[in-house]
Amino acid sequence: MSLAGKVALVTGSTSGIGLGIAQALAGAGADVILNGFGDASAALAEVGRHGTRVGHHAADLGSVEQLNDLFAYAEREFGGVDILVNNAGIQHVAPVEAFPMERWDAIIALNLSAVFHSTRLALPGMRQRNWGRVINIASVHGQVGSVGKAAYVAAKHGVVGLTKVVGLETATSNVTCNAICPGWVLTPLVQKQIDDRIASGVDPQQAQQDLLAEKQPSHAFVTPQHLGELVLFLCSEAGSQVRGAAWNIDGGWLAQ
Ligand code: NAD
Repeated sequence: MSLAGKVALVTGSTSGIGLGIAQALAGAGADVILNGFGDASAALAEVGRHGTRVGHHAADLGSVEQLNDLFAYAEREFGGVDILVNNAGIQHVAPVEAFPMERWDAIIALNLSAVFHSTRLALPGMRQRNWGRVINIASVHGQVGSVGKAAYVAAKHGVVGLTKVVGLETATSNVTCNAICPGWVLTPLVQKQIDDRIASGVDPQQAQQDLLAEKQPSHAFVTPQHLGELVLFLCSEAGSQVRGAAWNIDGGWLAQ
């Protein structure tokens, strides 16, 4: 499959899952717009080695104004967005009664509202060009809960619901919208949760094994490469009738 001539925007792609997905899309021939915090030079080099056009915009997607800037940049520099991967996300773990209000607001703004705003901004161009893919990186936490993750679970369930609506609203077009629901992937977001266990005195190797054993029957991490390949499938002709789905890729987490 070739995605030559398509432009992909992957939010939160300076590290972790987003970077893996950006690499897969560039490997298939797409031009890629990266987004995310921190020094983007390593991500630009890694994604750029495939020879397609790569850009980076550091918009903070918790701000609607900066989201507008990102889409104006995509239009001006790349001619619009054909493949939108809503991936940027953050986590905070605390019981509901102690959940910091500022963390609740930040998680809902980035993990849910930004998905709505970017979809709203991307769809007109996709409809006009008569082809598009909206792929939301939700989570198993879009389908089940876990203690301490009120904001994250609420936001991810919201993303799965939003995905169904956009999937229906685009159902008769060549635009599709789907969610991917990963289990544990070893990225900075999850490493922080492993580090919390290490800080409480658990051996590092054991902390990783305990984390997996509690939820993920395979006892193995999903990788950004696995997720990149699933994104490519959803972009393919064979994926064109997958619509409004919440596709788990979770080592068996949701089968329990
Ligand atoms: P990560 O922390 O490695 O990467 C997050 C990316 O988002 C980074 O590029 C960061 O710069 C960017 N980012 C953070 N705040 C931002 C903001 N306000 N505006 C723009 N960009 C911002 O995390 P990850 O594990 O790769 O997670 C990526 C997505 O996958 C998230 O939506 C997460 O909820 C989801 N997910 C992760 C796992 C996992 O086990 N790691 C499992 C299921 C779902």
